[in-house]
Amino acid sequence: MTKTTGWKFDNSYARLPETFYRLTNPTSVASPKLIIVNDSLATSLGLEPEELKNEENLSILAGNSIPEGASPLAQAYAGHQFGYFNMLGDGRAVLIGEQITPSGERVDLQLKGAGRTPYSRGGDGRAAIAPMLREYIISEAMHALGIPTTRSLAVVTTGEKIQREVLLPGAILTRVASSHLRVGTFQYAAQWGEKEELQTLADYAIERHYPTIEKDDSRYLHLLKEVIKRQASLISKWQLVGFIHGVMNTDNMTICGETIDYGPCAFMDTYNPATVFSSIDRDGRYAYGNQPPIAAWNLARLAESLLPLLHEDQDEAVKIAQNEIEQFQALYKSNWLAGIRAKLGLFNEEVEDETLILQLLELMQKYKADYTNTFRSLTEGNQRDTSLFRSDEFSGWHEQWSERRSRQEKTIEDSTELMRKTNPSIIPRNHRVEEALEAAEDGDFSVMENLLKAISNPYAYSSEQGQYCSPPPESIIPYRTYCGT
Ligand code: AMP
Ligand code: MG
Repeated sequence: MTKTTGWKFDNSYARLPETFYRLTNPTSVASPKLIIVNDSLATSLGLEPEELKNEENLSILAGNSIPEGASPLAQAYAGHQFGYFNMLGDGRAVLIGEQITPSGERVDLQLKGAGRTPYSRGGDGRAAIAPMLREYIISEAMHALGIPTTRSLAVVTTGEKIQREVLLPGAILTRVASSHLRVGTFQYAAQWGEKEELQTLADYAIERHYPTIEKDDSRYLHLLKEVIKRQASLISKWQLVGFIHGVMNTDNMTICGETIDYGPCAFMDTYNPATVFSSIDRDGRYAYGNQPPIAAWNLARLAESLLPLLHEDQDEAVKIAQNEIEQFQALYKSNWLAGIRAKLGLFNEEVEDETLILQLLELMQKYKADYTNTFRSLTEGNQRDTSLFRSDEFSGWHEQWSERRSRQEKTIEDSTELMRKTNPSIIPRNHRVEEALEAAEDGDFSVMENLLKAISNPYAYSSEQGQYCSPPPESIIPYRTYCGT
């Protein structure tokens, strides 16, 4: 039966030196049940969505059987967690294999919550239903927003309870990624591998993600440059929609430039650069406004790991690496400026734009304005009754902005169209995600399905989305997210 599902595996990671992984099968679970399958993602991977829902495939999605051609393994990696270096590795995830899609792309299929592995330190190797559904919802929202991300193919429950503060139903998420190569994978190779192994890993990353630089004489420098470029673009996209990752450890930063590891992440409601949702981020290391410098810090750890490949002379290598890391800030800023100009309906560039933009952000912070809804209102030309919009300061700003908007060749209609394409009318707000997860824990998946439908088209400005646009009630602020392992 699985023949007609469309599984088509090739396992290039398993051909790397054994330092990089341990062959590991998922641990079977008692009685799996399907909660959700991502039909459109399945189709794009060459998988038949209806087949994917049959018993045989349920067994695969639960880790009870292995599809033909797959070669399950747990990946080794290290990483700086909140600034401290640790040996990590997949402690509760198993890479089933790499699916080759109809368009010839190679993607990792990983079961998250599939049981203990040789890299589990503490922990039971399992995951609870709410955090897995949370990852499903937010990663799919990010994809719909046009932000590079790992995706979610399915969630199943295991029929087993797992021990957290209370007993919770266990679940497994099937995660799809361009690859699971992380900054931490390179840190692992640099710390414990031979130079040849580091080079093999770098060649592998280049072949998989940056094939155009493969023949380049200075390809390792180019690898570093390319990762910096993709991360500068990614982080600017996070900032533009108000996404807070929450746990930007180096093991949670990918080489391919996709967002990965949806733990305590959340979207910002009220604009404030100091916003932190994660209960474990007590010092605000990963606050909204810190994300760009933290990305640069993480990339410096990648650069350090690559030093032996950058130059034979260590001092020279350090110089080369430093020079690249210094580019991040400018790259990030030009991406962000381009994005925020579009959010304000500006096609051309003027030197004073940055001042105009920063003035708006300052006012948003001062008047505690909702980030998404402020841009949404500006797009709709409908200034709702908020203290920001009532203020004289805002009226002054609005006049300047209107003048600026008319100082371009494009029409106001074109400008509004640009704003509609770049300012989401809906984001997965924490209180709505929470409500969906609570219902799901009680066995009612309809709330989540409705939410998923609404966030699947975030630039629609449809009337059905209206109900999802209100900021959270004061009573649940400050909202806290938990890592939910
Ligand atoms: P994460 O926060 O999911 O990126 O996990 C960080 C590290 O902790 C990784 O090495 C995970 O594999 C490990 N880990 C997290 N939760 C568990 C768990 N329930 N059992 C075993 N290892 C875990
Ligand atoms: Mg992680």
